[in-house]
Amino acid sequence: MEINGCTRTCGLIGNPVEHTMSPAIHNTLAEALGENLVYVPFRVGEEHVEEAVRGAWALNLLGCNVTVPYKSRVIPFLKEIDPLAAQIGAVNTLVRTEGGFKGYNTDMPGLYRAMCEDGVKIEGERTLILGAGGVARAVAFLLVQKGAGQIVLLNRTVEKARQIADEVNALAGRQAIVPMALSDYTALPEEGRYLAIQATSLGMYPETDRAVIEDPAFYRRIHTGYDLIFNPARTRFMSLVEENGGRAFNGARMLLYQGIIAYELWTGAQVDRSLAGRAYTAMKRAMDLQ
Ligand code: NAP
Repeated sequence: MEINGCTRTCGLIGNPVEHTMSPAIHNTLAEALGENLVYVPFRVGEEHVEEAVRGAWALNLLGCNVTVPYKSRVIPFLKEIDPLAAQIGAVNTLVRTEGGFKGYNTDMPGLYRAMCEDGVKIEGERTLILGAGGVARAVAFLLVQKGAGQIVLLNRTVEKARQIADEVNALAGRQAIVPMALSDYTALPEEGRYLAIQATSLGMYPETDRAVIEDPAFYRRIHTGYDLIFNPARTRFMSLVEENGGRAFNGARMLLYQGIIAYELWTGAQVDRSLAGRAYTAMKRAMDLQ
């Protein structure tokens, strides 16, 4: 594309940012839609988060993504926050408004759009969430909001699972989530099968031969396994699900759709399936080059 005096800029605030796939997603969308827009990564030191957010607005940036470790740290410097992002307590997208940025969370809508595209149903499903970190907490809100059936939240540190369950149950006004220690999985009923969302960081490159539970008996309880990890493309968790009769997906489409929803918020564009497919191909190519 030709950069000229009217080119708008979007960027990524995080640290590190060197392995991001977001430029591949956004620059492909901008080019395909003929928008005069570029997307670039900005590595921001911990002590400069406020200056980075205020400076990005002062420099007339159209919008930003925010990645680890700043998804919560940027919140005090926003003009406004979307209710879903406020509930989750994490912002990954900043949208330019009069007088400052408005913060959104597109990770969970991104996961939901990815699951819909993959044909994975949440409503009424018995579900398991593995993990109780930042992403698992957001997944818990999503599952409750989308009407999942019984939800069991398993984590190595059971106290963290309890905290999330207490918080989400209080908001839901019912016992929607049951916390459980990871090691207690044998207590799960064997009849009926679950949708399981793998939201721990175990199994990510370079620890690609690991999963939080290895026992095949656990995986026989799962009809669909959704791993939020996207590197490697086929995780140990996914292999175990498939070996025991379930279908499995990775987190690449979630990554794609969190980006697409951010792009739609910045530009007002509607990204259809065919264009999403082009961005997905560009993202996979960027992954393969790393
Ligand atoms: P986090 O806050 O650091 O939480 C990590 C979780 O993993 C905790 O529940 C932790 O358990 C568990 N864990 C780590 N090592 C473990 C081990 N050896 N055995 C058992 N449990 C272990 O991480 P996060 O921010 O929630 O991110 C989680 C994953 O989501 C990341 O791996 C990332 O790949 C993925 N993610 C994907 C996308 C996407 O777009 N696809 C976006 C964001 C994140 P304890 O509480 O016991 O320590």
